[in-house]
Amino acid sequence: MSGLTIRNVIKRYGDVQVMHGVDLDIADGEFCVFVGPSGCGKSTLLRMIAGLEEITEGSVSIGARDVTRMDPSERGVAMVFQTYALYPHMTVKENMGFGLKMNGHPKSEIDTKVAEASRILKLDEYLARKPAALSGGQRQRVSIGRAIVRGPEVFLFDEPLSNLDAELRVEMRVEIARLHKEIGATMIYVTHDQVEAMTLADKIVVLRLGRIEQVGAPLELYRDPDNKFVAGFIGSPAMNFLSGKIEGGKVNVPGLQTSVAVPVNMPGDGMDVTIGLRPEHLTVDPNGTTHTVDMTEALGGVSYAYLISSTGEKIIVEERGDLRSSAGDTVGLNFDPARAMLFDGQSELRIR
Ligand code: ADP
Ligand code: MG
Repeated sequence: MSGLTIRNVIKRYGDVQVMHGVDLDIADGEFCVFVGPSGCGKSTLLRMIAGLEEITEGSVSIGARDVTRMDPSERGVAMVFQTYALYPHMTVKENMGFGLKMNGHPKSEIDTKVAEASRILKLDEYLARKPAALSGGQRQRVSIGRAIVRGPEVFLFDEPLSNLDAELRVEMRVEIARLHKEIGATMIYVTHDQVEAMTLADKIVVLRLGRIEQVGAPLELYRDPDNKFVAGFIGSPAMNFLSGKIEGGKVNVPGLQTSVAVPVNMPGDGMDVTIGLRPEHLTVDPNGTTHTVDMTEALGGVSYAYLISSTGEKIIVEERGDLRSSAGDTVGLNFDPARAMLFDGQSELRIR
């Protein structure tokens, strides 16, 4: 078994604390994604699991082994970085086998393991090439191959696709998902890209300022966020937020020029709240008069209409079908109040 148990992990650099007590369980064979904005501590947490950063307080166990103070080489992990760090003078085959060779493994064993990794990653025709003669995607496959060859219990990826162009990223994302299916090892994957998180993860861990905001399956986080931060981070385009106040048991939302009966445990009158509406849950009413269409983006199958309320608040609406808005239109907005989410205006916690 090679799941992970992370208990009250704290990281300080001198006087500056950057991780504030992280508790997390990752199951054996799970694909776990750490996601959050730049600087939230994703790499720090991953590097503490890898043994590349000292764990100031708390513990990390892999399977039944407490690895908190172990060297990286003893932990049974292999890490894939954003930069491929391949040896330029070695062939693909030599790059993949180098770690095992340094550790004195016999040539026959290295050949077998490199051949297996090469088959999984479809690198057979490139084995004799040097890195300079490979595309970015192929280089990253070699660096993943180097990790596979080591046969780790846990794979750690730190933004491995960030250096690739958009098309290749999508391709490699599918490759990594396939790889996980084929070898079934525990994988922890760091990204700031919520689309990567949504498409790859069994479990997403949303981090912010060195703390876990929420842990859940992709659609759990999308459908049932615990707070405004997670609601705004998961989903693209992001959820729309408008200010409101509880009045007469409903949410008075000036930006919508109406009161909304959100079906939640409604707080008392006078409380400041934020209402959240996803672009895909709004429809434009061409006969309405509450909003102005500032601009539109037509992507083909869908368009996004950027609306401005009389309060100056911005709202993005997803539109499909033949009738779509144009810039300058005056429109109204329709939605099912049951789709709206409510957040405490102060704590930003979800009101359910
Ligand atoms: P992410 O990978 O989510 O972008 P990091 O884990 O790299 O974020 O960084 C988390 C926080 O720790 C940031 O505020 C960063 O400035 C800080 N940090 C990272 N490395 C060091 C270091 N060696 N010394 C001091 N602060 C650091
Ligand atoms: Mg990072």
